[in-house]
Amino acid sequence: MNTHDPIVRCAACDGYGWLDADEDADLNFDNLAPDAAPHAGAVECRWCGGIGYVYRAANGIDRRIPPEDYAPHADTLERLEVERLREIGYTGDAKKPHQQQIRIDRGDRIVWQYQPTDETGIDDALPNGADPAL
Ligand SMILES: [Zn+2]
Repeated sequence: MNTHDPIVRCAACDGYGWLDADEDADLNFDNLAPDAAPHAGAVECRWCGGIGYVYRAANGIDRRIPPEDYAPHADTLERLEVERLREIGYTGDAKKPHQQQIRIDRGDRIVWQYQPTDETGIDDALPNGADPAL
């Protein structure tokens, strides 16, 4: 495992991990994961192997991060992904399913199944009016 080269966003796919092209059938997500297909018509980025990030050597050459390196770099990869999401307009922390506008608009079952009792999201059903902070 390489612990020296910094991890940077993949220049080919800009961190997305996939490209909006379909000329390469072998890398098409529809073939790679026919059951998932969240990126129908998209292909896995062959530069980074689909994770959106690469090692950048001192000489400026990017190379793929092997899968066995994902776990030891999980924190870095997650931080970079959060930064990327903020750049493209995603703000704030992860939202709970019932707070996601797309789910609300769609009328997803989870939205009306999970409704916190107040703005704090803390269930009010504490015995004897106990202070939730204690
Ligand atoms: Zn890439």
